[in-house]
Amino acid sequence: LAFCKALPKVELNAHLNGTVRDSTIKELAGALMLNGKPMSLARLVHLTQQTSPSIGECFQLFDILHSLTTDHDALRRIAREALEDFAADNVVYAELRTTPKCRPDRGITKESYMEAVLAGVDDYFASSNAEDITVRLLLSIGRGQSQQEMLDTVQLALRLRDRGVVGVDLTGNPTAGEWEDWQEALDLARDNGLKVTLEAGEMLNPEETRAMLDWGPDRLGHCCCLTPELQRLLLSSGIPLEVCLTSNVVTRSVLNLKEHEFATLYKRGHPVVLCTADSGILNTSLSREYAIAAYAFGLTDRQLLRLAMEALDFSFLDDIERISVQQRMQTVLACAGLEYS
Ligand code: 5GP
Repeated sequence: LAFCKALPKVELNAHLNGTVRDSTIKELAGALMLNGKPMSLARLVHLTQQTSPSIGECFQLFDILHSLTTDHDALRRIAREALEDFAADNVVYAELRTTPKCRPDRGITKESYMEAVLAGVDDYFASSNAEDITVRLLLSIGRGQSQQEMLDTVQLALRLRDRGVVGVDLTGNPTAGEWEDWQEALDLARDNGLKVTLEAGEMLNPEETRAMLDWGPDRLGHCCCLTPELQRLLLSSGIPLEVCLTSNVVTRSVLNLKEHEFATLYKRGHPVVLCTADSGILNTSLSREYAIAAYAFGLTDRQLLRLAMEALDFSFLDDIERISVQQRMQTVLACAGLEYS
């Protein structure tokens, strides 16, 4: 783990509400109880203690989490804490994604939600060691949302382009929604120059995964439940893949890491990036995901280093920004006494 920690790393699949620290969840839950607002703690405890939750139960956990965090102050806090945790793990570049939420009962609009997240990012950069990490944002389109909500999110992403938003992603419970529901919003994003990444193949759904591959996003996430034909299509597409090993085991998308698609894709030279998805609630870190990959697939230090350095090629940064992060990566390497060319 020490070697993985020393590597300068790039995080391309991180859901803001999945990064929340346990200690923060406890504090926020405590504050809600104090304010006398009902909060299903029993349900939260039940879900977190399930040893083998179904994929649907995993996603229900987020509904409860959202009742704690969809609040301007809480969002600002969890955004700052997410960056603190990434930087402490030697993540030098992060694309943080989140689903803007509208909660009229709490005075929250999608715009004010994002302003709170951006304030949290600013808070981080106002702190002393701020040049450690470069951050960009992706706005998530939730699979279960209405078409209007999805279009609103894309319009918001377009308005926030000069504030660090580089793209959108399709996310959420893999059992919800259908390709026809979200294609219009995704087309709107792409036609207006936003980058697009889609979470795909977390459960076997060949028709949907094929539609996603045919659409040709800039990146894909997961793709761990593929038929042999879909695997061939993915390989020939060359679309970079965000791989989230711990997440795939917890949601039981894969039963055994040795059988994870990563093994074949990596061997065949497909562009892959190790990511955490939900570092807080999965109790992991990007360093840990590298260590798990090393253990499960027998990767050498040299291979891990290469994976870490190449990850930046698949980011949504432009060439000039990428060079500046590359320089930072070289500095981190030099500090660790490592070399990469
Ligand atoms: P948020 O967008 O609220 O900041 O982050 C949490 C949301 O991201 C959840 O509602 C969940 O739907 C989505 N999410 C988190 N992890 C995963 C994942 O591994 N796969 C998919 N498809 N969605 C996820």
